[in-house]
Amino acid sequence: MKIVAAARTDVGRVREGNEDAVLVDDRLALYAVADGMGGHRGGEVASATAIEALRAAVAAGRSIDDAIVVANGAVLDKAEGDPALAGMGTTLTAVLAPGGSSVLLGHVGDSRAYLLRDGVLSRLTEDHSLVEELVREGRLTPEQAEIHPQRSIITRALGVEPDLEVDLAAVPVRAGDRLVLCSDGLTTMVRERDVAGVVRAEQDPVVAADSLVAAANAAGGEDNVTVVVLDVVEIDESTPPDPVALAEPAEPATPVPVPAPDVSPTAEPPPIPRAQRWRGAVLLVVPLLIVLALAAGAVGWYARRSFFVGLDGERVALFRGVPGGVLLWDPTVEQPSTLRAGDLTAADRLSLEGGAARGSRERAEAYLARLEKRTAAATSTTVPRTTAPTTRPRHATTTTRPPRTTVTTRPTSATSTAPP
Ligand code: MN
Repeated sequence: MKIVAAARTDVGRVREGNEDAVLVDDRLALYAVADGMGGHRGGEVASATAIEALRAAVAAGRSIDDAIVVANGAVLDKAEGDPALAGMGTTLTAVLAPGGSSVLLGHVGDSRAYLLRDGVLSRLTEDHSLVEELVREGRLTPEQAEIHPQRSIITRALGVEPDLEVDLAAVPVRAGDRLVLCSDGLTTMVRERDVAGVVRAEQDPVVAADSLVAAANAAGGEDNVTVVVLDVVEIDESTPPDPVALAEPAEPATPVPVPAPDVSPTAEPPPIPRAQRWRGAVLLVVPLLIVLALAAGAVGWYARRSFFVGLDGERVALFRGVPGGVLLWDPTVEQPSTLRAGDLTAADRLSLEGGAARGSRERAEAYLARLEKRTAAATSTTVPRTTAPTTRPRHATTTTRPPRTTVTTRPTSATSTAPP
């Protein structure tokens, strides 16, 4: 399996600068979209910094979710070093395609990833945005969310706080699939079914990326727009050495009867002796079994070194494994907690249902500790909600946003920096 990539980024028709950034690195098989925000040059610095740090971290062997955490640190460091960049942030949606039958998808913010398979376009990412949280809580319909005036408010971004929760997924892919990464400049201007129409209709990935950007601009182009199209294709079979041929050099060649020259153009190839046919089948099956066993082992290793916080019935617990399980590896409770699902806010409960803070044990433990603290605070005292979520500027002229510390709290959370 390999990826054929095409990408396009465009300033749009309203903004003065392009704060989106895009990465296409075929050598690393790493592809990403970042949508920056912040005053002055902040937005473009944030997205460019995140993309470069992501690339360097993956090149250094970090996993995709670790690399996004590293990128978060890079954006924070850069903002700290320059007052003009304070408060900048960025989304980041990245695909790593290391070969094999799945790609890894890491995601923070409201850029998106889609998968086109058999003509059906499905979304792979959740927007970390206020309106999408309201949709998940059943307080808005998806149709209302599409046109909601506050749909640019995002609840998770790089550059906000050192501790970052990254959505990570292993997405099984096969030849013929098409992945699309895009910034919200596409999806706020073009309806999903129209995006699907273009992604389906344009065979050439370059034409597909260009057409999507053109559609956003035709609809008004109110935001920067970035599109990456990734076609999953079969590796050319003639390139790699034939494993069967390599597996049998020690065997004395079985003499194959050489047919007499045949003048008939429709002549069938000579029949292969039964014993040789059988041996050929074994030689094909054995390497295949070894490959399958290695793949299963790798998936299991991945599944068993991951942790997350989720629900064990009504009780919150730290799990080892991957939410929902991978192949035969179901997640197991590593450490129960005293928290019950009923104590949580609706938003926290929803994140736990999908498995929150996936990744290292340290991250899951830290998340659980925060959740316990936050829930204890929420149930013992009623703290007035004073925090405001991040507002992404709709136009280049409105670039200010609340200071960093007020940005981090999800709007549904009850904890906050209470006034003295
Ligand atoms: Mn945008």
